[in-house]
Amino acid sequence: MDSSKKNSVYSKTDTNKVDLKNDEWAKILPKDVYTIARQKGTERPFTGQFWDSNEGGTYYCAACGNPLFESNAKFDSSCGWPSFFEPIKKDSLVYKPDNSYGMKRTEVECGRCGAHLGHVFEDGPPPTGLRYCINSVILDFEKAKEAEKKFDEDAGKSK
Ligand code: FE
Repeated sequence: MDSSKKNSVYSKTDTNKVDLKNDEWAKILPKDVYTIARQKGTERPFTGQFWDSNEGGTYYCAACGNPLFESNAKFDSSCGWPSFFEPIKKDSLVYKPDNSYGMKRTEVECGRCGAHLGHVFEDGPPPTGLRYCINSVILDFEKAKEAEKKFDEDAGKSK
């Protein structure tokens, strides 16, 4: 599917906030995405598409297309979920206290559409010391095609 036309609100460039009711989201999101995004679900560790990925590119919100993380902020946390030490922009995300399941955690939501993404923990690497632990299901990845091409060309020149 053309990812730029995933649903009526999906856009990688529109920064206007998206405010839909859950029954509206249910109509336009795949069931697995809806479960994570709107019902705060969690995929099983080591099962997602991206926990073990090292490809260069950008991760977007799978519900609304908001740019969330760059691959150069991704690190191998071995926790079974894709982990990042910082978002693309401060307002890419919003933070909510989460005291469910008897734990004190900080929930991370998409700054544009409010989709549940995962949690942030204070045991990440420098420079931030943070670990954004994010469900693969709610991420859309776009490979840095142009950047990669340029790198390959430059590498070719210097040989
Ligand atoms: Fe979103």
